[in-house]
Amino acid sequence: MSRPSWRQYFLDVAKVVSSRATCPRASVGAVMVRDNHIILTGYNGAPSGDSHCIDVGCDLIVITEEETHCKKAIHAEANVILKAAKYGISTNNCDMYIYADPYMKCCWRCKQILRNSGISVVYYIDASEVIRPDFHQFCFKTDIIDPM
Ligand SMILES: [Zn+2]
Ligand SMILES: [Zn+2]
Repeated sequence: MSRPSWRQYFLDVAKVVSSRATCPRASVGAVMVRDNHIILTGYNGAPSGDSHCIDVGCDLIVITEEETHCKKAIHAEANVILKAAKYGISTNNCDMYIYADPYMKCCWRCKQILRNSGISVVYYIDASEVIRPDFHQFCFKTDIIDPM
């Protein structure tokens, strides 16, 4: 068995974290890393103490005919940043590894949150195991994506 690269390792962890998601509309896991150390993890779901979407259903808001959102679920990326605030951990210059369902896109709000929290590099991979370069080009100061 070959030893995974750091990037593969963190993406594998993000995949495991996504299995804890509690909104059936998506399974997303996020891992915040600094200097190759995992600082925090998060997945999408209802706020702490609230009932889970998987138990009582989502609370949907219709944006357009094709687009709806669950008002109850906090997105995985945002949950990591919120946990950092809760526990007094700096997010500045950390990397974020995100694992999501196939063809999902990181929403505009999470992109804003990640950008203003000082996250320097985001590795976004979906279940088809493809790193998504469009994400980097949209939002972040680096667009360098090394091969796995
Ligand atoms: Zn939901
Ligand atoms: Zn989002």
